[in-house]
Amino acid sequence: MTCVFAILAVSVHACDIHKNYLSHPHLGRRQNLRRAEGREELDWEYSRSFDWHTIRPEYATCQSGTNQSPINLISSQGLATTHQPDFSGYAAHPEVAGNFFNWGFGPAYTLHHEGEDFSTLPAMKFDDQTLFLSGWHIHLPSEHLVDGVRSRAELHMVHVDAAGEAKSVVGIRIDPSQDPNVKSAFMDSLPELIHFNDTAEMEGVMTYPMAQIEEVSSVKEYWTYQGSLTTPPCSEGLRWFVPKDSLKVSVEQMVKLLGASRFSHRVEQTVLLHQINV
Ligand SMILES: [Zn+2]
Repeated sequence: MTCVFAILAVSVHACDIHKNYLSHPHLGRRQNLRRAEGREELDWEYSRSFDWHTIRPEYATCQSGTNQSPINLISSQGLATTHQPDFSGYAAHPEVAGNFFNWGFGPAYTLHHEGEDFSTLPAMKFDDQTLFLSGWHIHLPSEHLVDGVRSRAELHMVHVDAAGEAKSVVGIRIDPSQDPNVKSAFMDSLPELIHFNDTAEMEGVMTYPMAQIEEVSSVKEYWTYQGSLTTPPCSEGLRWFVPKDSLKVSVEQMVKLLGASRFSHRVEQTVLLHQINV
């Protein structure tokens, strides 16, 4: 996963604030609100992301890696014509069930799947690889820059192989639209956002994975490169796709997202062996 966050130990707990979720028409069967006893303490901080390698030897790649993420993408250097991602496998899963929570920095979601088998999840293909959407989470502000400009947030859609190992991330930048008629259907489909200090976890939340893909012109125009996890241990070997379009949300949706999230971008990494668009 791009972000390593604690697996929450959970116990059933009712919560008045979230009563509305339970009657939300989109939310299907088996929906419960669970409350974690607490998150696992992280030994790294975003305010020192330039120095993560000094924390422990296992984080050495954060400094010595040759294709670390995130990076600045330069529009004058053109977009990709290689590794075209194919999301048609998502069509078999117009709706999925999963857990909705906050990973400590922003909204997050993991899809339900059977046992250790991830191959039943929505499939994305590129080249000769078939990968599966295991979940997503949001960073604030964006991790990737385009022409040096940082968006207000970034959605990471994490794709794993059949064994559950992260292999590719679609990093969708999020920006508010000045057009009062623009509203994100993806954001609109989510339950009320859970605050970063709240360890509540909602089970059985139905979402529509194609929504966020369609909201960025189905990722027809994009940058792609060889990158890494953007949190310790900064492991490499992930293919990144960054759509040219950012996902446009209403100002009201942006305000809610800002209120539920906290600072969570890693410093820009130097381009070395990233093979951008190659
Ligand atoms: Zn991430």
